[in-house]
Amino acid sequence: MYDYIVVGAGIIGSFIARELSKYNLKALVVEKENDVANVQTLANSAILHSGHNPKPNTLKSKLCLLGNKLYDEVESELSIPILRTGAYVLAHNNEEEKKLDDLVVTTKQNEVTEFEFLSFDEAVKYEPNLAKTVTKVLSLPTTSVTYPWEVAFACMENAILNGVEFRKNSEVTNITKTDDIFKITINNTDIAEAKHLINAAGVKADDIAEMIERNVEYKITPRIGEYFVLDKRVKGFINHVLYPLPTNLGKGVLLTPQVHGNILIGPNSKFVDDKDRANNTTDGLRYVKDNAVLLADNLPFNEIIRSFAGVRSTSNQEDFIIRESNEVSGFYHVAGIDSPGLTAAPAIANYLLNKIMMVHEKYDTKCNFNPKREKLQEFHTLPNDQQNELIKQDSSYANIICKCERITEKEVIDAINGPLGSSSIKGIKKRTRAGAGLCQGGYCEEKVYKLIARETKSSPLDIVYDSQKSNLFVSESKVKK
Ligand SMILES: Cc1cc2nc3c(=O)[nH]c(=O)nc-3n(C[C@H](O)[C@H](O)[C@H](O)COP(=O)(O)OP(=O)(O)OC[C@H]3O[C@@H](n4cnc5c(N)ncnc54)[C@H](O)[C@@H]3O)c2cc1C
Repeated sequence: MYDYIVVGAGIIGSFIARELSKYNLKALVVEKENDVANVQTLANSAILHSGHNPKPNTLKSKLCLLGNKLYDEVESELSIPILRTGAYVLAHNNEEEKKLDDLVVTTKQNEVTEFEFLSFDEAVKYEPNLAKTVTKVLSLPTTSVTYPWEVAFACMENAILNGVEFRKNSEVTNITKTDDIFKITINNTDIAEAKHLINAAGVKADDIAEMIERNVEYKITPRIGEYFVLDKRVKGFINHVLYPLPTNLGKGVLLTPQVHGNILIGPNSKFVDDKDRANNTTDGLRYVKDNAVLLADNLPFNEIIRSFAGVRSTSNQEDFIIRESNEVSGFYHVAGIDSPGLTAAPAIANYLLNKIMMVHEKYDTKCNFNPKREKLQEFHTLPNDQQNELIKQDSSYANIICKCERITEKEVIDAINGPLGSSSIKGIKKRTRAGAGLCQGGYCEEKVYKLIARETKSSPLDIVYDSQKSNLFVSESKVKK
């Protein structure tokens, strides 16, 4: 019997898991995918927003501001990468300059204290490729960028180290509650029991709620956002996150420098019917291109190496829904967590545990909680003498698997066998960046699948690209008799 079961291992479930691991209690996280961070947390802009534009006095505004600040602590405890870029919101004419003034009113109401206006001439000194049509800029120095997958892994790894259990490939298919105990059916077969249940199922949060509540008070409608990725050779083309003015559809098409040097162009914003499909469309990508050129001149579209789409879990409630169920005690909603959910995530977990759950549930804090996650430095960033020393200790450091990102065999092996190891091609890409470079896995995918097969003693036929059924091979074509 668990004290808490968390449904969903996106950034929210992962931060909640880590927060739970600070207490003397038994907790389990169940995730339907074969990895953490495989849905909304997989495909977003990776921005830690300053908090300048959510509606004032909402959970979105308060937890965004707090989350942005808490990331400093997360960075030092979990060794996650943060690129402190700052952001510019751009106006192009008198009408937009007035809207920029209105945005500052919201910024102040949200208690964001660091901001300033810049003229085009001032801003272009720091952003030489800023579009010449820009007339005025709102600078937001506390905006930064992180690597969302790594944040989620780091949280979950740390939670596991501190005693939380994690089950992947485990879809919650039914929930009942009798005599104060939740019975959670997993994959239509297994049953797990818990005293409390936390719903952090992202775009499926309303479906989970419908399994146990008669009148679910919110509905999630998926909203797609599409992107282009520019190769890391463009590093330095822009230095800040460049935002247009926000509209009722969100923050608009942005240019966002990434922690590894790439630049993201996007997203658009389009409501769709299917929660499980995040596809690129010709119209969507055209919209992204047409709007991106308003932010910077001479955008190097010839450096595009990939496009992708993510799905926002937008609810009909305007604000994040973080509360205990009105119908079923011990059942907690953490739903409607669209943007700025990545930024707010550490504050959301903190708010759920300390302001809602632990107010009436008394669990002692763990005296031996270890907040630290040690991360080995990426091999290719080390000086030659350190690289040579490591190669002497383990020769698999000398075998480069991914030439674009310069990832070694040893790093891939560690990613397969780590505390939150993975045996899918995409899982290894998320952990090591093997396959994230210019050739997008053309060179290394074959080497990675062979290493996975060797390390996990699996048949190549069982190796998947991403989800459980995405096998790389259908059958052997030449079998020695
Ligand atoms: C296009 C886009 C751009 C964004 N940009 C930003 C940004 O720059 N900055 C920012 O702060 N925020 C941004 N966001 C928002 C941010 O990505 C989300 O708020 C955050 O990732 C939400 O995390 P989550 O854990 O709630 O959801 P998810 O990451 O979707 O996790 C939910 C998990 O629940 C699992 N699950 C669902 N049903 C079940 C079930 N039945 N059984 C078991 N598991 C289940 C899913 O598989 C999934 O892994 C963006 C979002 C999108 C889509």
